Amino acid sequence: MIKIKTFALGVLQTNCYLLHTEDKALVIDPGGDPGGLINYLKDKGIKLSLILNTHLHFDHIQGNASLARSTGALIYAPEKDRFLLETEVGSGGFMDFPETPEFDFEDIPEGSHDFLGQECLVLSTPGHTPGSLSFYFPSLGAVFVGDLIFQGAVGRTDFPGGDMEILKKSARDKIFTLPDNTVIYPGHGPQSTVGEEKRHNPFFRGTGFI
Ligand SMILES: [Zn+2]
Repeated sequence: MIKIKTFALGVLQTNCYLLHTEDKALVIDPGGDPGGLINYLKDKGIKLSLILNTHLHFDHIQGNASLARSTGALIYAPEKDRFLLETEVGSGGFMDFPETPEFDFEDIPEGSHDFLGQECLVLSTPGHTPGSLSFYFPSLGAVFVGDLIFQGAVGRTDFPGGDMEILKKSARDKIFTLPDNTVIYPGHGPQSTVGEEKRHNPFFRGTGFI
């Protein structure tokens, strides 16, 4: 039995998702101070072994270093986004945003993985960034899409490597082909479903889904 818990972290209140069993956990996109999350894990005696990033924008990775240090978890993130760490949208520190603490990560290949004893299909869904990934858990009916799609909106594509046409193609080919009742867990804002976004998201009008 897997539980999904949401923590809104950091200055942009990025959705950080904790997936856990009785004793094991993974975290997707710790975008700020993970103190509350660490306390939750300690309270329940849960071991965190894995941190996954959908993409390498500063507001999704701020908590990577401290969370990995305090739990020993390994970080997996898209190699194709590594260049973003050399730009301010990855490194942070611009305007009043905090700097991203340095962390090590390994690439996650596209395809089928076993996380927490569940199948996870890692989907390449570029557009918001070149390396953007979505994590689809068929047994949970859940897909974690980062900043690809939000409820009624899509991610920005005016950052380095962003491309709106590629983003729309990723959504159509990789997300809208999942079962309609699949819950979409986005990087910001409320959850939605594949069916809802396919039919009502204004960015996809006239694409054959409505
Ligand atoms: Zn982003």
